[in-house]
Amino acid sequence: MKNLIELHCHLDGSLDLKTSYKLAMNRGIIDKDMEFEDFKKRMTVSSDNASLEEFLSCFELPISILQDEEALTISTAKLIKNLRKDKVVYAEIRFAPQFHTQEGLTQEEAVKAVLEGVKDARSLHKDIKVQIILCMMTDDPAGKNFNENKETIEVAKKYLKKGVCAIDLAGNEANLADYKELIDYAKELGVPYVLHAGEVDYPKNVELAIEYGAKRIGHGVNVVNDEEILKKLVDSKIPLEVCVTSNIQCKTQPSYEEHSIRELFDKGVKITLNTDNRTLSNTTLNKEIKKIMKHLNFTKKEVRKMMINALNNSFLNEKDKDRILDKF
Ligand SMILES: [Zn+2]
Repeated sequence: MKNLIELHCHLDGSLDLKTSYKLAMNRGIIDKDMEFEDFKKRMTVSSDNASLEEFLSCFELPISILQDEEALTISTAKLIKNLRKDKVVYAEIRFAPQFHTQEGLTQEEAVKAVLEGVKDARSLHKDIKVQIILCMMTDDPAGKNFNENKETIEVAKKYLKKGVCAIDLAGNEANLADYKELIDYAKELGVPYVLHAGEVDYPKNVELAIEYGAKRIGHGVNVVNDEEILKKLVDSKIPLEVCVTSNIQCKTQPSYEEHSIRELFDKGVKITLNTDNRTLSNTTLNKEIKKIMKHLNFTKKEVRKMMINALNNSFLNEKDKDRILDKF
């Protein structure tokens, strides 16, 4: 399918394999004699039945590669090239700047390096547009990284509409209420936000995300277990960013056939379809479309509706939205 919109794609989980292999080799992050196939195994979940531990362990290597400006810039540009190959015309790529300060970069420098990658890709590929979402991270106990998260909001404010379009809260799902002060701060600064919520069986977080005024909700699929909150979600018209393969690999949904995206769509929730982590999950938006058409009987028309939902609820300006809508 062409003219796709991708709103939920993590940079670290979506790195180009060959490029990362070279970057890792040059930086001495992997052994000189490590074969490409072995490298690939460390970057990619082995099957849809992998453990959650294996899923999370696949982020370690990408994060250690992305600790300098050059690596961030090259990796971002290469991801955009791959998005374009997948027929994506507009994407919002997200990453957590606080994960890229281990070798001395500041959060702002990490953001600037990623924006440089967007610029580089833009000069080569005029037919795809990209904006960046900055992720705050949950931590245990909540509040442990309060200052880092606050800094992420401030950097987002500084680069808002200059390549950055919003912030997010990602990481192991925790009680959203513990992050309200930060969300209020973002609101105060006029920084829009999307929020990961309801990925694990925690529908209450979806209710909080609605109450806090999230522009969109990351995953949210477990809201299906709570009729009352589900109704609130439908009424709110806040869309879910659904990532089917990722949910199955993280074991928050049982299988493609039983994934709640079908029920949520049929009950009137605004659904957008996304990849979450392209490399880690070995997927693309076109692959996700094929899977839901095959296992959940989605029609092309229904998939198109998801893309229009995504476009309408993206952070793209109205002029560009209309331009892309014309292609549908
Ligand atoms: Zn995510």
